[in-house]
Amino acid sequence: MKIEKNTVVRFHYDLYDQADGKKIETSKEGDPVAFLFGHNNVIKGLEEAMVDKNAGDAFDVEVPPYKGYGLRHDNSTQRVPLKHLVIDKKAKLKPGMVVNIQTDRGQKQATVIKAGKFNVDVDTNHPFAGKMLKFAVEVIDVREATAEEVAHGHAHGVGGHQH
Ligand code: ZN
Repeated sequence: MKIEKNTVVRFHYDLYDQADGKKIETSKEGDPVAFLFGHNNVIKGLEEAMVDKNAGDAFDVEVPPYKGYGLRHDNSTQRVPLKHLVIDKKAKLKPGMVVNIQTDRGQKQATVIKAGKFNVDVDTNHPFAGKMLKFAVEVIDVREATAEEVAHGHAHGVGGHQH
């Protein structure tokens, strides 16, 4: 079946930084990503490129920042108490490491600049902000979403939300 609103799509991807052609992320070390299509669960550029595709389709898509992770902002350094970080307590924080921070509006990704004893200085730009990205996508399968998935706004099962 074709990808359209309220289908659950499973796909694999390799993600490249267009500036230097380097691969910066891949889904292929684990299960395919599963998401409910048409509910803003993936970045806009990726969702747009998937419309009407079928299981087995493989394609490349270029995603500019405004359809991806946004522009990079200056002055976005913040000092955050360590307790607001969502990490394994034993993990050693290093500059350049990407961490999740608990905020009033949910979790947010940031990059560690400097770690102290009680606080950590982070850059709150998304690590992929400002980048021209290229996704190499392979659609694994497409199915109709269940009523429950549509009500929740996300896919269930392997690669999706696990309640
Ligand atoms: Zn759910």
